Amino acid sequence: MKPGPHLPGSHAIAVPLLDVVQGNQPLRHEILEAIARVVDSGRFLHGPDCRQLEAAVADRCQVPHAVSCASGSDALLLAMMALGIGAGDEVIVPSFTFFATASCVWRVGAQPVFVDIDPVSFNLDPQLVDAAITRATRAIIPVHLFGQCATMDALNSIARRHELYVVEDAAQSIGARYRQRPAGAWGHVGCFSFYPTKNLGGMGDGGMLTTNDEALANRLRLYAAHGMEPRYYHQVVGINSRLDTIQAAVLNVKLRQLDAWNSARARNAARYDNLFVEAGLDDIVTLPKTTAQHTHVWNQYTIRVPEGRRDGLRAYLAKATIGTEVYYPVPLHLQECFASLGYQVGSLPETERAANEVLSLPIYPELTEAQQATVVQQIGRYYASALRHAA
Ligand SMILES: *Cc1c(COP(=O)(O)O)cnc(C)c1O
Repeated sequence: MKPGPHLPGSHAIAVPLLDVVQGNQPLRHEILEAIARVVDSGRFLHGPDCRQLEAAVADRCQVPHAVSCASGSDALLLAMMALGIGAGDEVIVPSFTFFATASCVWRVGAQPVFVDIDPVSFNLDPQLVDAAITRATRAIIPVHLFGQCATMDALNSIARRHELYVVEDAAQSIGARYRQRPAGAWGHVGCFSFYPTKNLGGMGDGGMLTTNDEALANRLRLYAAHGMEPRYYHQVVGINSRLDTIQAAVLNVKLRQLDAWNSARARNAARYDNLFVEAGLDDIVTLPKTTAQHTHVWNQYTIRVPEGRRDGLRAYLAKATIGTEVYYPVPLHLQECFASLGYQVGSLPETERAANEVLSLPIYPELTEAQQATVVQQIGRYYASALRHAA
């Protein structure tokens, strides 16, 4: 029997959320050669590969200094340590972000102060940041969520007025710009991650710090090396946070493709926009928005699914072999580990609404138009059947 149009399997174009194997495939030979070079060199930490990556990231971010470290989470922690943030200090952070944005504050003994987001961009709302500043506030950590910069001119002017440090969490936004200035060049420190799902992903963990300030760059390096300078003399208590040379070698190969990958992500975002409009679904789900001032690098294409339908849609898409993810289902201010900070359900209404509505769709560079059409078609089918059941 030939499968008819209504039989399961007839639309089974699988669409994974991300396909890192496919992404690395064209570079496989070059990557293996780079790894082999490191193996043969016997130099597995620091060395020329790390220096080369630092120089390349600094160059792209238009800053004079970049310092490699073991992860994006460590980058954030090192920033807190090197800026001398600690007990009695408050640091303003979004709650709608990955855990590491706030855990770095907690780990140095300071208090994260969670501030609500702008519902359109999902990034910190500068007006609410202003209102959250107290005499104990020392820093703001804006996150450039999903690949789009926070409103950095407004945040920087608030920070200047109150003499606060600005630490950018640019983990999802390498290559992004706002008003032509790159992510990582706005604050006192920029923090990047090379976790495999980021736009520049390694084959393991990795991170990078950027800064305009040479003295601060030296402090970051010192804290990343146990505070040790010279050897076996410890000026401060740091941590051990090094980027593996193998990761640096892989990332140097991959970095050459970053612009092409970011462009492909932007093309895919525009295709989704068109497909949703053509299907008449752009009024039913809310599409992500950007502005002419932003160069969005689309680490995620995140729609809003209102009226309690998000989890139903996600399950429907999973059955149709379409991968999606919820970034992030539980806001940080409602996490068990931060209960002692005293936040309640209702403390940050836009963050909580976003956590209930967001759904990130596959957006990786190699995604085909046919796969994207399938994603949008299946979302249309979900709504057609959901509305039929409601009638
Ligand atoms: C990935 C990520 C981090 C942490 O990076 P790791 O390299 O995984 O430690 C921090 N903040 C944000 C917003 C992230 O997306």
